[in-house]
Amino acid sequence: MPGPIDYSKLRILPDFDTAEWWAGTKARKYLVRQCKACGHKWFPPIFPACAKCASLDVAWFEASGKGKVYSYVVVVQPIVGAFIGAVPYVVAIIELDDCKEADGTVTRVAGVMLDEESEVAIGLPCEVVYEETNDPKIVMPRWKINGTAANAWRFTE
Ligand SMILES: [Zn+2]
Repeated sequence: MPGPIDYSKLRILPDFDTAEWWAGTKARKYLVRQCKACGHKWFPPIFPACAKCASLDVAWFEASGKGKVYSYVVVVQPIVGAFIGAVPYVVAIIELDDCKEADGTVTRVAGVMLDEESEVAIGLPCEVVYEETNDPKIVMPRWKINGTAANAWRFTE
């Protein structure tokens, strides 16, 4: 497992658009925005209007927190001090299992994996886990592989 993230070096300040989302992670709920008019779901929640129908009537959808690795990168050069001890770590784009829409749209989220580079592959199932930080108001979602897939694919050098 990559080293720990030093949350004492991160300052996360929920704002008007993200406060409910952070309250969700504290309650161990993975939320995505959902349009009440057409049902479209998206992440991150900072966009206040639906990209499909422009409605401002939005709500939250509680996703199961299960998905599939759509792609990933291995970060070896930390840009933020909090991640110096964590490199090399994997940032994945995850397709949420229960956020697939009839027109083929799939909600994708980015997340820092708990797993090593050698364990992560495109196509593998994964699930969210919640990590406490030094700030009791902030619980960070992380992702971990939770199964196998016959068609998993891994980047090679
Ligand atoms: Zn909409």
